[in-house]
Amino acid sequence: LNRSLAEFGTTIFAEMSALAAATGSINLGQGFPDTDGPEQIREAAVRALREGRGNQYPPGPGVPELRTAIAAHQLRRYGLTYDPDTEVLVTAGATEAIAASLLALLEPGDEVVALEPYYDSYAACIALAGGRRVPVTLRPHVTEDDEAAAEGGGATTGGATTGGAITGKSATGRSTTGRSAAFRLDLDELRDAVTDRTRLLLINTPHNPTGTVLTRTELTAIAELAVERDLLVVTDEVYEHLVYDDAEHVPLATFPGMRERTVTIGSAGKSFSFTGWKVGWVTAAPELVTAVRSAKQFLTYVSSGPFQYAVAEALNLPEAYFAAFREDMQAKRDLLSAGLTEAGFSVFRTAGTYFVTADIRPLGEHDGFAFCRALPERAGVVAIPNAVFYDHREAGAPYVRFAFCKRTAVLEEAVARLKALR
Ligand code: PMP
Ligand code: GLN
Repeated sequence: LNRSLAEFGTTIFAEMSALAAATGSINLGQGFPDTDGPEQIREAAVRALREGRGNQYPPGPGVPELRTAIAAHQLRRYGLTYDPDTEVLVTAGATEAIAASLLALLEPGDEVVALEPYYDSYAACIALAGGRRVPVTLRPHVTEDDEAAAEGGGATTGGATTGGAITGKSATGRSTTGRSAAFRLDLDELRDAVTDRTRLLLINTPHNPTGTVLTRTELTAIAELAVERDLLVVTDEVYEHLVYDDAEHVPLATFPGMRERTVTIGSAGKSFSFTGWKVGWVTAAPELVTAVRSAKQFLTYVSSGPFQYAVAEALNLPEAYFAAFREDMQAKRDLLSAGLTEAGFSVFRTAGTYFVTADIRPLGEHDGFAFCRALPERAGVVAIPNAVFYDHREAGAPYVRFAFCKRTAVLEEAVARLKALR
């Protein structure tokens, strides 16, 4: 095995899904929905297959219908104008978009400032590109709900603080004490992380695994820093449609000076609940898209012909689809957050994504790895230890992540099992 990859082993998602299967546990580890996306979109894929659209190599940048739909979506939702022919690239999921972006834009030795905890493929792809990751750690903060709401971060779960997180959540997902706990970015730390070797900032909002949605204030600071230090930005916005309460997803590319230096990444797996289709995309200025495509052509060349046509239809679904998806996930967030709180965890507020991060210390536990390895035996539930997403492992040690993109009955059963832990 290549030395750059050796330190990464097997991804935690494969390890934990295998553990779930082997023990017959409820899998709240790997983030994939247990209900497929819209029937109409599945039918669109079947139609494309039957009609022979995309059964042979589709065009390198993606089929025109999908590139047009991606550009239309960015314009309709965010007022961002992209030329479907030169500023949009279809990839094999967001995973390939991340890999191709980093391989295309980094020179060996370049530093990448990334938010920690980070999605696991970031570290591996930075290493494959010969870059050096410089993590900036998101830290737990307790804020007054009014303040959080004013920031656009919204309000949440509340109660007494224990180790940074909050217990005693109300059934509505609103705070009972007027306080919320969430992971936030320290803007001074971010500034201090940038050196003369920094090539790019790798951002993720809504953020996996913490559920944090970066506020306008935070995004403005990131944008100003990128402009001031002339940095590229790769921003993973795959959970763009999953934001709750008062939180708002604002793409980094909408900030002054950012459109020309930002590579924005989206995913049909996340937005339409078809993670197995592996359709993702990049939107960016022409030179950046050309660069990312140069790498992509040697990774997969092209991807998922018939599914691209179906995803084009999905992106054109009316707003009602996105609103219903969001509402469904928000109700599931409330169910799982309340259940975990009742089971004795301290729960962080999920403003976006389909993950809840919980602190295990109120249960008398300290090591998320040990906790997650034992949980299938103890409770028949699988979760992910957040420490795998950290370079500073000790900073992530007491946190574990549960996915709530599951059927209500499944979440209820998981909660019942976790309550029996006490
Ligand atoms: N980025 C983040 C933050 C993710 O959580 C995921 C997958 N869950 C991906 C990228 C990968 O997306 P895809 O399945 O489209 O490759
Ligand atoms: N992104 C998903 C998660 O965070 C899993 C994707 C994968 O298995 N690579 O759970």
